[in-house]
Amino acid sequence: MLTLHPVPAFSDNYIWCLHDDQSAYVVDPGEAEPVLRYLKERSLRLKGILVTHHHFDHVSGIEALLAASPEIPVWGPGNETIPGRTLSLKGGEQFELDWGMQLQVLAVPGHTLGHIAYFAPESPLGPLLFCGDTLFSSGCGRLFEGTPAQMHESLQRLGQLPPETLVCCTHEYTTANLKFAQAVEPDNRDIAERLDEVRGLREQNLPSLPSSLALEWKVNPFLRANEGAVLASLTSKLGTRPTSAADSFAKLRQWKDNF
Ligand SMILES: [Zn+2]
Repeated sequence: MLTLHPVPAFSDNYIWCLHDDQSAYVVDPGEAEPVLRYLKERSLRLKGILVTHHHFDHVSGIEALLAASPEIPVWGPGNETIPGRTLSLKGGEQFELDWGMQLQVLAVPGHTLGHIAYFAPESPLGPLLFCGDTLFSSGCGRLFEGTPAQMHESLQRLGQLPPETLVCCTHEYTTANLKFAQAVEPDNRDIAERLDEVRGLREQNLPSLPSSLALEWKVNPFLRANEGAVLASLTSKLGTRPTSAADSFAKLRQWKDNF
């Protein structure tokens, strides 16, 4: 039996831990301390570290985790500087974790240029996506290095994965993202329902994640950039209709940056 658990870190990060009550893998450990505590409480042995991109809040815990488990692999994007990386990856590659679990590597530039995501098509928990700071629930990462067109393409690629895919993103930004989504689509009932649900979860200090791609297609303006309601909203805000789905995405991202 596999468990998928978001270990909270910093003020709003999650370090995803996948384990079978013996062996564990973690994704984007920006801090070591909360991971070490979680592993110790459950007597788990760390078997490997997966990294999506180079930002400090995703990599700063790697060295301390390696000090505690020196021999484990650290997978990360080959064209970014990742401390302790032992295996350099690029989009299109595959590898296997314990449990015979296949992971596919997807290149998803935009937030950073080398950003990768990990997709497990056939985990015992259903399809799993670890997408770092690319796709958030009802939002997406800021464009620090890539272009809007790159991020739009990356999100659309992630959006084509199976609808039941569990979306394991790295930040608890869902409430703020839904408020923006509601500004873009005030009449979208799915957004209103999700906001109610997430407010309830957050009041109990529970994570709003993982999400699913099926849900994201209903509530995420950045995936919905080419939907009629989103285009109409942008047109009335800007006075001109976006010229393409990528243009619509770019205008949404700009709007969100100033929201
Ligand atoms: Zn980042």
